[in-house]
Amino acid sequence: MTPVWVEKLPKESIVHKAYDFAEEAHKNEKRLDGEPYFSHCLAVAKSVFDWNLGETAVAAALLHDVVEDTSYSLKDIEKTFGPEIASLVNGLTKLTSVSYPQNADTETLRRFIISFTKDLRVLIIKLADRLHNMETLKALPPERQKRFAEETIEIYAPLAYRLGMQKLSGDLEDLAFPYIYPEEYAWLKGEIGANYVERQEYSQKVVPIIEKALKGQNINLIKIDSRAKRYYSLYKKLIRYNMDLSRIYDLVALRVIVKTIGDCYAALGVVHQIWQPVPNRFKDYIARPKPNGYRSLHTTVFGPENKIVEIQIRTEEMHQEDELGIAAHWAYQQVRNTDKKQNWTGIKNANEMTWMEQLRNWQNSFGNEKDFLESLKVDFFKDRIFVLTPENDIIDLPTGATPVDFAYRIHSDIGDECVGAKVNGKIETLDYELQTRDVIEIITQKNKKPSEDWLRFVKTPLARKQIKEALNAGNRRLKKKITGQQMEMEIINSDRPGYLKDVTAAFGEMKINISYLQSHTDQRGALSKVVVRIGILSTEKIQKLLVRLKKIVGTREVNYKISRP
Ligand code: MN
Repeated sequence: MTPVWVEKLPKESIVHKAYDFAEEAHKNEKRLDGEPYFSHCLAVAKSVFDWNLGETAVAAALLHDVVEDTSYSLKDIEKTFGPEIASLVNGLTKLTSVSYPQNADTETLRRFIISFTKDLRVLIIKLADRLHNMETLKALPPERQKRFAEETIEIYAPLAYRLGMQKLSGDLEDLAFPYIYPEEYAWLKGEIGANYVERQEYSQKVVPIIEKALKGQNINLIKIDSRAKRYYSLYKKLIRYNMDLSRIYDLVALRVIVKTIGDCYAALGVVHQIWQPVPNRFKDYIARPKPNGYRSLHTTVFGPENKIVEIQIRTEEMHQEDELGIAAHWAYQQVRNTDKKQNWTGIKNANEMTWMEQLRNWQNSFGNEKDFLESLKVDFFKDRIFVLTPENDIIDLPTGATPVDFAYRIHSDIGDECVGAKVNGKIETLDYELQTRDVIEIITQKNKKPSEDWLRFVKTPLARKQIKEALNAGNRRLKKKITGQQMEMEIINSDRPGYLKDVTAAFGEMKINISYLQSHTDQRGALSKVVVRIGILSTEKIQKLLVRLKKIVGTREVNYKISRP
């Protein structure tokens, strides 16, 4: 039975031919769950189709396991389907058959996979393949399940994230989570289930209030979704919060989708007029997108009954990008018109461009989909080099970067105090042009200062900025030297006289020295935030301190993080 999406394609589409070919090639094979093997090929192709990757990629997805698993060779594929599809299938076959370097760290493995992927579509089809394998993981024996799941969380989910395919990345993590941490997963599911109904009811209270307010201000609202929190990301967050579920804000999380960027900011204003924002929780990823291209406004407010609600505001286009990442841009290619172009600006200089932005830019400069796809075959990562520290950490730099760029990337002090560099064991000048796979060791000298001359050859904005800063600081080097790590606590409270005194008393009672304390009050004077820095405490002592602080009248929440001075 040919599925509807295939049937709807034009008669002459290469997908039909690939469908028949793959079905025939795999006809005698079954998967471990007893399904015909071809069902896997079809599922992978459907994802690729849904991501709008084009018919060539859909055909390659259908054929992706033919060379690996059947008696047909790459030559056969090339004869029947031509060089482009053959080259995609070849990339996928190679990717399946490589043995990953043993005991390499996960970042190395990700790079390794990328290095096999000259055409980005290979990587995306591979992700579709992995998605379906994870969806059907039940059929595998337990040891293989665990290995597959770990690989997925450590390598494939981050790769998807890097391509801006956040939905896929989250789906992969959530599929892998129960196999890696079965007990934690069961616990979390139970906990969340318990207050699921309550949260649903609460969301249903909040949504109409926002809807009404937005309409009153003539904001073009498309829809409001209540967003299910993903299990794995929640679990990661819980680890940071001592497994205290009550401290996770975005259990009630809403996504407001509006028409234009202007509407986004207007909607934010409206939301902040109805409910008070939680200090320091607002993030403008529209003005400053995440490196993977993600855009949205995020805010957290005290909603009805003073409960915490996280709200994301975005346009439909941003929403689709969030789900599909770079694949979304193929889709837009067809529907975009010139007045939408404004959404693609904001790129400052080539060095600061993220990979995602580079892709977008390339896409804009090509007239049609075919040229864009063509451009992806050129090595996508050609503007980057990957060099190593003596400990084999991979550092990613723009082409033309020098040891000074490398030094600043490691740490500002190493940059400032850099006097020389060994590249692959040999002394090189500081303006030496680094190459992929170089191993770099920086030679430093205490209290050295950067030279103005370095500005002539450094390639990264980071190095440039820090050199200038160090030069401006001149002799009065205010930069504190490292004195060990510290803990920074952030205590949010409803302001009242004497609150600060009670906080300092709590630290005093527990014999904890405060090395820094600052208190901020928001514009309305109702909420304030106290920031306190202290030395590192044992987990036990942290727990006690948190309990003690929460007992103080007015404390709303306490967060902490480890900070380097
Ligand atoms: Mn496969």
